Amino acid sequence: MLERSNELNAFDRDHFFHPSTHMGMHARGETPTRVIGNGEGVYITDTSGRSSLDAFAGLYCVNVGYGRQKIADAIAEQAKNLAYYHAYVGHGTEASIRLSKMIIERAPEGMSRVYFGLSGSDANETNIKLIWYYNNILGRPDKKKIISRWRGYHGSGVMTGSLTGLELFHKAFDLPRAPILHTEAPYYFRRPDRSMDEEQFSQFCADKLEEMILAEGPQTIAAFIGEPILGTGGIVPPPSRYWQKIQAVLKKYDILLVADEVVTGFGRLGTMFGSDHYGIKPDLITIAKGLTSAYAPLSGTIVSDKVWQVLVQGSDQMGAIGHGWTYSAHPICAAAGIANLELIDELDLVRNAGETGAYFRSELAKAIGGHKNVGEVRGDGLMAAVEFVADRDDRKFFDPSQKIGPQVAAALLERGVIGRAMPQGDILGFAPPLCLTRAEADIVVKAAAEAVANVFKFI
Ligand code: PLP
Repeated sequence: MLERSNELNAFDRDHFFHPSTHMGMHARGETPTRVIGNGEGVYITDTSGRSSLDAFAGLYCVNVGYGRQKIADAIAEQAKNLAYYHAYVGHGTEASIRLSKMIIERAPEGMSRVYFGLSGSDANETNIKLIWYYNNILGRPDKKKIISRWRGYHGSGVMTGSLTGLELFHKAFDLPRAPILHTEAPYYFRRPDRSMDEEQFSQFCADKLEEMILAEGPQTIAAFIGEPILGTGGIVPPPSRYWQKIQAVLKKYDILLVADEVVTGFGRLGTMFGSDHYGIKPDLITIAKGLTSAYAPLSGTIVSDKVWQVLVQGSDQMGAIGHGWTYSAHPICAAAGIANLELIDELDLVRNAGETGAYFRSELAKAIGGHKNVGEVRGDGLMAAVEFVADRDDRKFFDPSQKIGPQVAAALLERGVIGRAMPQGDILGFAPPLCLTRAEADIVVKAAAEAVANVFKFI
């Protein structure tokens, strides 16, 4: 009889198709596998007993930290009372109704209703359908194209993977699909002309957007989607006045704005929403991750008054909206969402994200910002990234085959801390739970400094 862990390992290699994993190497046992057993606070522990400080909060989602009894109790209670009922044809549960109200109370001004899904991807899929429906109801059948940004991340489905502006998510999947277009990423560190200051680069991005709109015909462009701060594309805060300049262009051509707040919603930047933080006035907002801190899968599309009025007009003309998921507003997930949002308030986590985030980023910059292979330490709130370069003065990047980012992430893990090697570029990302303390931030910074020193000793 094999040991349980070995048996599990064999089952894993033989039967489990992991997302975002090298399929061949995993199946052949050439890459490590890790089976996570428990979590408490900012730590996870695997079944061999090894603990790690999770400075990426899972996939920037476990915002309240692991092991919160309050959320576990809320889930159990809801499962016992009513595990499921659908939300079609006006049905609801107390949990889904109360959670809708809590979300709208926390959302930026002008928001009206929440449509629930299960993942960030399906919520963005809902956005696309609502945008098309909206323009059909307004009698503008040609206004359907959606502009996203290179390096944006909006999901992995057919349309949402098309919105995503990362090569890995397109290659060999026949993506992106029409009618999705991509414009310049607001990535100041990688700006094409290094003589530009931040505001000039923001103007450059806005000009590129306007050129695209004019080339395609403004009557064909329905919406623009963006994360307030680029996440998976490299954790890149917008350059100065970027959102003001982009919004001016969108307004000029009557183009809807979708703020994808899957990562930034519910406190990560030190404000309840990233839109509040950067002065964004969206027509639709995507939420997921931080809504339940991933204790249960739940996402949502927050619809503004402006869009809602047109949707209502649509159903008055055509009947019930033909869009529904079986698990929309699932009561167990909604119960987790309520307990999670209450906990965020009770523990004052939004404020902590802002304050501890500023401390963490400043300590990180002090510890490694001067290293010859660190091109930039950047971030906002409790999101941070370190971008590695072969040469600082020439801003010369490493060849991707050297896998510098993954090497640093592996060295960090050896020192007991989880960061994430971001998928495009040599970028080490951090997005810890919002309950991170200064002492825990110090542990992350110390491990990061040691990992960087160790990796570059051999390069
Ligand atoms: N939007 C953003 C900004 C994300 O970061 C993600 C996931 O990381 C998604 C959408 C997709 O969410 P999901 O993986 O839940 O489908």
